[in-house]
Order: sequence, then structure tokens, then C-alpha cells
Amino acid sequence: MREILLPYYNDRRGKSINTLVIHASAQHTSDALMAKLIERELSSHYLVDEKGEITRMVPEACRAWHAGVGEWMGDKDLNSTSIGIEMCNGLFGEEPFTDKQIETLTELCQHLIDKYNIAPTQIIGHADLAPGRKIDPGSMFPWQKMAENGVGLWYDMQEGNYLTLLSHEKMLKEIGYGTDDLEATEWAFCRHFNPQLYRFLGGKLGANKGTIEGLVLHDNPEYLRTLKAVYAAYKNARDLQSTIVDTSYKGAQHSLYGRFCGAWGNLKKASTY
Ligand SMILES: [Zn+2]
Repeated sequence: MREILLPYYNDRRGKSINTLVIHASAQHTSDALMAKLIERELSSHYLVDEKGEITRMVPEACRAWHAGVGEWMGDKDLNSTSIGIEMCNGLFGEEPFTDKQIETLTELCQHLIDKYNIAPTQIIGHADLAPGRKIDPGSMFPWQKMAENGVGLWYDMQEGNYLTLLSHEKMLKEIGYGTDDLEATEWAFCRHFNPQLYRFLGGKLGANKGTIEGLVLHDNPEYLRTLKAVYAAYKNARDLQSTIVDTSYKGAQHSLYGRFCGAWGNLKKASTY
């Protein structure tokens, strides 16, 4: 792993790491991607290029600036609680990722999941937390394959055949999505959990949201079936998690590192990220 540290970070505000956020850029090489981050004074902890090589840009203990405005499970300060991983790609994840790249990413995520005890329901894409602004890591990102290798969560479509009293909006919220921009959230959900349907319907890059004007996703039976199935999978996973006693001692360690990061971070101007 190579290490090129960027100065765009601050302290984690006393919060512990509990989320992984995956990004995809529109740059094929790590140098081009880093140049883009530097230009915008942004950062992530890691970058995985198309050859499957990793670059570390921010120490894990520090708060990188990659998530921006958004939310997941009611958490609206995801930079403080997450590790951000950038993937090189030609088009925000609408072009295929290389096998080598996905292999490396899977190993990196497995390592971080073990290290920080990250729940499968907390492994998300940038668009999942900011559906109105972002589309990455895109419809070519292999979420199902990642989940089969222990990174994130997939679902059983059979579960989508049952009746539920919950509204489609409520199910999205329970999965973790913010629904301020409901239309964009529905497209983000579809891109993540049913990319075939997303591409079949003609989801696109327009306006950053990937929405198609005039097409209401929650009227689509396959969308609804997917939504119910994912809701069931997330609910089951969370029920299981809540029965496991948290023996994590890492919070104390993080806040110690947090103070160290603060000293460095304060050298930079305060950022909204
Ligand atoms: Zn992103």
C-alpha cells in the first residue's frame, strides 16, 4: 500500500467508526483522482485504482471529507463516523470495475469490518447517503458479489412477495435512507439493490440523481418487491445485531486519536465537510 497523505481532515468529534462509505469517481488513475480531490479540498481514507492498488490518504483515526451533506439511519455527520473509500472508474461507477479492483476492495473492507466491528447494514454507497446529489458508486458496482463475500447485505427476493402494512417511504427510512427527496432516494435504492431494473428503466446521470422524469418508481411492481425484500433483510440483520452485546473498547482509543488529529486538522481552515 502506498501512502500519500492529504491535509484535508480534522478530528472525529469524539465519535466512533461504524460505517463504510464507497465512492466511485470519473477518473481512471489514482493520480488523476487525487488531483481532483486536491482541487476541491476533499479527501477519503483510501483509494483503490483499476490495477487494484491501494493508496492511503487520511489516517483512519481522523475524519476525512468525503461524505458531505446527507444521512444514513438518522446520522447526519457521516464523515465523523465513517471510513471513505474511493474507487477509480471512468464514469462514477457506470463503467465496469476491474476484477482486481473489486478483489482488493473486498479484502480492504473485510479488514475494516473486523477491526471496527462494522455491521453489514452500515456499508453504503455515497448515493445512499446523499441521493439528491450523488450517483456513485453507480449501477456497475457489484454490491451483491461484495455481500456474498461478507461486505454489506443482500436479500432474498422471495421475501418481497409478502404483504406489509408499511408504506414504501417508511420502508426506505427503516432501511436507513433519508427521504427528504423521495424520488431521488427511490432511484438510489434501485441503483444499489436492483441495478438490472435501474438500467432496464433507463436510469441515467442527469442532474446527479439518476432519476427519469415522469417515471414513478414506487408504481413499479418489481421495485416494490425489491424494496420489501431488502427491508426484510435489513430488519432481520438489525434484530440479530441488537441481541449481540457490544464489547467494543475502541471508542476510547478513537477519542484519544481524535485529539491528535485535531491538532493537525486545526491547521486547516474549518470546513463544512
Ligand atoms: Zn462520492
